[in-house]
Amino acid sequence: MLWAKNRRARRNSKNIMAMKKLNIWTVTGVGLLIVGLAFPWGSVSDAGPTLPWTIYLQLLFASGFLALALMSVAMVLALRLPKIESWVGGLDQCYRLHRLSAEWGVGLGLTHYLIKVGAKALRKEGLLVKPQGFDSGIPELFSTWHDVAKLLGELGLYASLALVAVALIRAIPYHLFARLHRILPLLYLGFVLHGVVFLPLSYWKNLSGAVFVICVVAGLVATGLSLSGRIGRNRQVQGRVAEVTSLGKGVQEVQIDLGPAWPGHEAGQFALFTFDTREGAHPFTIASAWEGENARLHRIRVAIKALGDYTSTLPGTLVAEAPVRVEGPYGSFIFDQGKGRQIWIAGGIGLTPFVARLEHLVASTAEHEPVDLFYSARHVSPETLARLSTIASAGAVRLHVIDTEQEAPLNAKQVVEMIPDWKASSIWFCGPLKFGDALEKSFMSMGLPKGQFHREAFDFR
Ligand SMILES: Cc1cc2nc3c(=O)[nH]c(=O)nc-3n(C[C@H](O)[C@H](O)[C@H](O)COP(=O)(O)OP(=O)(O)OC[C@H]3O[C@@H](n4cnc5c(N)ncnc54)[C@H](O)[C@@H]3O)c2cc1C
Repeated sequence: MLWAKNRRARRNSKNIMAMKKLNIWTVTGVGLLIVGLAFPWGSVSDAGPTLPWTIYLQLLFASGFLALALMSVAMVLALRLPKIESWVGGLDQCYRLHRLSAEWGVGLGLTHYLIKVGAKALRKEGLLVKPQGFDSGIPELFSTWHDVAKLLGELGLYASLALVAVALIRAIPYHLFARLHRILPLLYLGFVLHGVVFLPLSYWKNLSGAVFVICVVAGLVATGLSLSGRIGRNRQVQGRVAEVTSLGKGVQEVQIDLGPAWPGHEAGQFALFTFDTREGAHPFTIASAWEGENARLHRIRVAIKALGDYTSTLPGTLVAEAPVRVEGPYGSFIFDQGKGRQIWIAGGIGLTPFVARLEHLVASTAEHEPVDLFYSARHVSPETLARLSTIASAGAVRLHVIDTEQEAPLNAKQVVEMIPDWKASSIWFCGPLKFGDALEKSFMSMGLPKGQFHREAFDFR
């Protein structure tokens, strides 16, 4: 039974590894190519004297078409589907692609609107003339819907622009952003109606029609799943808090019993935890390996730091026996370049995936290439240090602790000086965003080959 579960977890990680090369740019590029091929270039070249008007209309249709296609992609990416997660290299990449598609989609929607407004202004000045009897090809079938579709398109665009601004303005609290984000599926329905009503017959009749139908049907299914609260439901397991221990400095270690429904996980993966249904799910890395006692008891462990409004309430509220919904596992920060030398760098609470991996190394009998763990944190307590040293030495990992209360924070130069063959290593980072940015930039500028710096994008906004 356990063996079968570990096999499921390993298969999951193999999928992630196999498809990791498919990054967000490849996926976006392929998407744009399909849409580009669908564009009816022929109707532009045959236009004759009606060329300016034809160009205007085709730009209008193409921008609207691309906007709706990208918004549909964004809707589908929000589903947290395991297949798509493995194609793009992890849920964090999935969210990045979701954000990118949504931003480009809204940007193209704005372009579409500005083309319409610009053409109106040009017509007023007599600079653009609609040829007599010109048939734009918009199906007559939906003519009674034109006004509603126009209104929904315009209002939806204003609302979407406001939501993109909310996502970009970091000063707006996350919970407000998350709540406002929930109206996006409704706006999408309005965009679909707008698209169906105004898509010209020429588009319906060729490849673009097929692309449109696929995008819209997929987007509508995603909208239905989103509005009915079914996203991720088949990866959710109901668990129970077994034990809560304070580790000091606002960190709570939480043991959770999940029962046999949990499929297992790879060290380094994370899950979405709902301790309070009104608050919703928060992502935390699973800080324990799925081995030995943990796998036998169906138990996982997380370490949660009070970093914001919700997590600050947990030290007073989270108690043993409390129910918890766990969704996952997710993520591709799974140390899968296992054959080479590795350098691990943890900043503060970013230690959690490395603890899980250390537990895995301790449990595994296989030999591994040298690993150096750099743990940089403010005030490392003697208990934490003792616990970490024990597990690191049992897992044959060289530990370097940088207590930033007493010394300067770790930088890439220090790592390079301590590990002469650092360029032949894969580097795994987990910790604060800016710390990760600075390290990645320094290692890259010193010649670390591309693709050897791994980090979890610990930000879903
Ligand atoms: C993949 C991943 C793994 C993580 N692992 C750990 C861990 O092991 N231990 C730990 O202490 N922290 C971890 N975090 C960070 C943790 O999720 C946030 O600190 C926590 O959700 C903050 O919630 P808040 O309401 O207290 O803070 P806020 O002040 O509301 O938010 C601070 C930031 O946390 C993020 N955030 C907040 N709420 C959510 C949410 N519901 N979903 C997604 N992101 C959110 C946003 O980026 C936000 O800007 C992880 C984050 C990610 C993305």
